[in-house]
Amino acid sequence: MNKKTSNGPIKLGIIAGGQLGKMLALAASNWGIETIVMDDDKDCPAAQSCSVHIFGSRLSYEDIISFADNVDLIVCEIEHVNVEALQFLKKSGVPIFPDPDILTCIQDKGLQKDFYKKENIPTSAYHKFENSDSLKQAIDKGLITYPFVQKLCKGGYDGNGVSVINSVKDLDKLFTEPSIVEDKVDILKEISVIVARNKNEEVKCFPVTEMEISEHSNLMEKLICPANLPEKILIQAEEIAIKLIEKFNMVGLLAVEMFVDKDQNLWLNEIAPRPHNSGHHTMDSVITSQYEQLLRAVLNYPLGSVSINKPSVMLNILGSEGFTGIARYEGLEECMGIDGVKVHLYGKKETRPNRKMGHLTILGNDLADALKKADQIKGKLRVVS
Ligand code: ADP
Repeated sequence: MNKKTSNGPIKLGIIAGGQLGKMLALAASNWGIETIVMDDDKDCPAAQSCSVHIFGSRLSYEDIISFADNVDLIVCEIEHVNVEALQFLKKSGVPIFPDPDILTCIQDKGLQKDFYKKENIPTSAYHKFENSDSLKQAIDKGLITYPFVQKLCKGGYDGNGVSVINSVKDLDKLFTEPSIVEDKVDILKEISVIVARNKNEEVKCFPVTEMEISEHSNLMEKLICPANLPEKILIQAEEIAIKLIEKFNMVGLLAVEMFVDKDQNLWLNEIAPRPHNSGHHTMDSVITSQYEQLLRAVLNYPLGSVSINKPSVMLNILGSEGFTGIARYEGLEECMGIDGVKVHLYGKKETRPNRKMGHLTILGNDLADALKKADQIKGKLRVVS
């Protein structure tokens, strides 16, 4: 059990104070948990909702070690953190979620793919390359054929670090750093399953959610929940998510992103061991939000119900093109005036093109209703400066 036995509130340390950290701190405050967030930006979103903001870098060994003095347990809201520091703290008995060994695997897309292969989880065929020269040689020898997708092993996020190479004309888009190259999947839909597991080994999956990714920005634009797919695929997707969290022996939340191809096969794309933007809607449309579920998991409480209150569509609120500076929101009132629309703003002072500034959850009586309202709203809310 990780429940605190000494007097006073639990002190939950959150590494990084982006929007996910902010929403986690909000959920924790519902239970009187004290939240101590470490981030190197004094204006980070979580600074507005946490009990204490400690200035420090998630990539600094020393910052993480001294941060731990102030907390009972640590949760990471991002995987790009200094794992060596977390390994040291783990040995000293600090409860850390996710376990640093899991972070080591997930920080490297090559290791992630090796893990899927070892566990027989369907994922597109892949090869690893140290640099673009060795990749070009493999192409010349016919070992790699078009189209393919190149991904940086380390440091990618939101589609940065992913290059789709359709033909020889795209070769100037190759990354030079260590990468994996995988077969391009003929995608019908992209989906996500967020699964939670506590120390008592209780496991629950949030309903399968469709993700629409913008070809232009590579960012997720829309979520649709529940996913409109045959029951057989939904069950398979949940089975894959459960197998993964169990094989990792993980306590916490695991977001599992998959592709459904045009022949209705499932392919695992990637995983994130934390709250995820594919779970934004859970705050409004599911009985338990992903943040509350994470708290239940790491404190070893019974997991909450994952039943849907109402079908929903989530739209990301991104900084509009052509505007950089102090953020202003146009069309907010109009959106709020539509029945079933919930607005979440992350409180970022400055906008820039495609910066994630907030999200809208649109609840409907049925999915068609939610989708119709989402179509009405799309483009109405603009973040300008
Ligand atoms: P990130 O970790 O930066 O989010 P992803 O691995 O999720 O990167 O890739 C970003 C997007 O690129 C995916 O959402 C998908 O649209 C596309 N993509 C990634 N891998 C493949 C693939 N093997 N086949 C086809 N499209 C892919």
